[in-house]
This record gives sequence, structure tokens and C-alpha cells, in this order.
Amino acid sequence: MEDLALPSLASTFGTPCHVYSHAALHANLRAFQTALAAHPAGADSLVCYAVKANSNLAILNLFARMGAGFDIVSGGELARVLAAGGDANKVVFSGVGKSGAEIHAALMAGILCFNVESAAELERIDEIAAALGKRAPVSLRVNPDVDPGVHPYIATGLKRAKFGIPIDAALALYEHAARLPHIAVRGVDCHIGSQILDPAPFGEALERLIVLIDTLGKGGIRVEQIDLGGGLGIAYRQDEVEPEISACLAPLLDRLRGRKLKIILEPGRRLVGQAGLLLTRVEYLKPGERNFAVVDAAMNDLLRPALYGAWHEIVAVEQKKTPTTRYDVVGPICESGDFIGQERELAIAAGDLLAVLSTGAYGMAMSSNYNTRPRAAEIMVEGKQAHVIRQREKTADLYALEHLLPAASISSIRPEIDK
Ligand SMILES: *Cc1c(COP(=O)(O)O)cnc(C)c1O
Repeated sequence: MEDLALPSLASTFGTPCHVYSHAALHANLRAFQTALAAHPAGADSLVCYAVKANSNLAILNLFARMGAGFDIVSGGELARVLAAGGDANKVVFSGVGKSGAEIHAALMAGILCFNVESAAELERIDEIAAALGKRAPVSLRVNPDVDPGVHPYIATGLKRAKFGIPIDAALALYEHAARLPHIAVRGVDCHIGSQILDPAPFGEALERLIVLIDTLGKGGIRVEQIDLGGGLGIAYRQDEVEPEISACLAPLLDRLRGRKLKIILEPGRRLVGQAGLLLTRVEYLKPGERNFAVVDAAMNDLLRPALYGAWHEIVAVEQKKTPTTRYDVVGPICESGDFIGQERELAIAAGDLLAVLSTGAYGMAMSSNYNTRPRAAEIMVEGKQAHVIRQREKTADLYALEHLLPAASISSIRPEIDK
């Protein structure tokens, strides 16, 4: 990882441990920013990192320093962005269930835009803005009904999804929004899904948004920004092809040429996914009908394989010449779904170090304390330096917010069931 050897990181910081490359994070964001800036249609543009992919403050801080905005989906993420030095006026707020308190906090902070996902949410934003004497900037998140061809859990732009406003209902809601006194219509927004490797659906979604923008314009509703969401995928497997960022953006930007729209993108996975790996050590080898390599990382550290059947490359850090064996790489958690990878050819022994690749996105962010497992440490490597960006949790912290029953309650035994 950059100029540091993984075994030394593992011995210094312990395993399991999420490790990120500063250079890779930097390069990924710059690739979006320069692709936009290099195109005439992208002169006014903003890359809003989708915080949910990896919300560590150090990563948010790096991106904020590079001029990024942020796409948030909760009040908690807003607080993180502000704590990391992000600009509230570069924040867009997506999500189907924004609470009154979250809307209030976002209006007080002065965010760039609410991406509104329903008529009821629009009314709520208008009411809260009225109470605060403000006008809330909004885009409607339109559901363009395109199929991104990905796992159903991460396809969000289909008609049957809970996300967004069906595109045929958008016009009427825009007309309504334009009449609300505490709403300022700013633009249109969509986000069609995640881990999209074929860029064609982005073009289809854009065509539908352009039709909507033109229809709105004819009706006197002029929008000034278009947000095309996130979703650009990464190659988890060697046989997958990672579409190039500038090549994906070029046709979209060509299509927007001459329209004078501020362009917003909300990439998450593509900015952080390949920048991270999960270091884990083999605890036991358990040969049998299936051979298991039991490692010290588990589904609580990396949920994607268990949740989506997702595939992460697993490599032995110190390569050996010995013949390989086919292993299921599994964690210690008491669930058969607790695997990191299945049927992997590896030459390993107990005590060996493994690197699970491409875990920077939706890795730590989806972690949990299931089985009372402290969350792993997070390390950012910058050249020869290793920065601890999140300490390993301590076991006692995991139950620090819990309380025993009062003594009186313990004495009130129930004779009928306690016989
Ligand atoms: C999750 C999400 C993103 C980021 O998706 P990636 O696939 O990680 O790029 C962007 N916008 C919204 C609204 C999201 O929910």
C-alpha cells in the first residue's frame, strides 16, 4: 500500500484492519473533477461525494480540501460533513425518509439542495422552511424508470423502486412546487443505481431528464442544475472492465452542451472502492468436504458478500510457491452466510495474512458489532506514513450505553414461569 508493506501495517495496527491509499482517493476524485472541468458543459459543476460509501472523517476532510461537495442521506451524515470541514453550501440531501429534525438541521446549515423524493416530503420541507422564514432549495429526484442491470438491492431507478418520483408524475409536482412560497425550485435529480459498469443507462436516464427539463421550460419553470447521481461501478473481479471516468462523462456532457446547467454528480463507490483493502489473518484451516479458511475478519467487517453475494478478490499477502487449495474464506460469526469469499484457490497456512481487495466502499460503512465484535481499525497510508483514521473499538465501549435492570426489578421474579 503506497510505500508501506502490509505485514508491517498488520503487526503495528493488528487485524482485521481497513487500509486506504491517500493517493488513490485523491486520484479518483481528481479524475471526476478534471473530466468535468475539461469539457465546456462542465464549467459549472460539482462532484458531491456520496458519504454513505465511506463516511470516515479523514476521507471527508481530504475530499473537502479538494473542493468536493457531499451527497448525504441523513442528518448524521450532515454532522459528519460539517465536522470534517465540508461546506454546507456544497451539500445535497437525498433519501426517501428525511425526518423533520433532519430537514430543520439542513435548512439551518444552509445546504445547496434537497433532492426531494415524494410529494409529502415536499410539503414537509415547505412547512419547516416557512417556520424558519427560509426558502428551501429543491430538486425533485425523478425516477426515470431505466434498468441499470445490477443486483436488485442496488437498482434504484426502476418504477417499482421506493426511490424518487415517477417521471410521469414529476411535471405536476414541479408545477405545485413552483407555487409553494417557501420552496425554490433549483433543478432535477436522478440516481439510477449502483455498481453500474455499462454506462448506457446513464445516457438513457439523461435523455429522459432532458425531455422533462424542456417540458418544464415550456411551462415557465426554468431549472438551473442537473444532478445525475452516482452509481459508476468498479471492477471487483479481474474479468470485469472498469469504465473510464472521462469516457463515461463525455457523451453525457456532450448532450448537455450549451444548456448552461450546473452539473452535479454523486459518485460514492468509484471514489473510494478501489482505494481500500481489508487486512485479515488466518486463524485456522479446517479441511473437510469443503475446506474452510477461518479468518479474523467477518461479515460484521465486510457485509457485501453476505448481503449481495458480492465478490471480492482475496490474495495471500506473502505469496508462496506451495500448491493451492480451494477454500471458503469465512469469519468467526455464527451465521452460515458469514463468508468473505467462496471457493478461492489459495496457498496459505494458519497465521498468514490475507488482503481482501476493493473494500473501500460499503465496507467499514456497513460494518456492525454483531457477535460483540469491536469494529476494525481504519488506517490511511500516505506515502511512507500511516495515519490511524479510526481506532479499533474497545469491547467495553460496545456495551457502554447499556444498563442493567434496577435491583427492584431483579427481585420481582415471576413464580408462574420461574418454578
Ligand atoms: C448511494 C447513492 C449514491 C452513490 O452511489 P455509488 O454507487 O456508491 O456511486 C449517490 N446518490 C444517491 C442518492 C445514493 O443513494
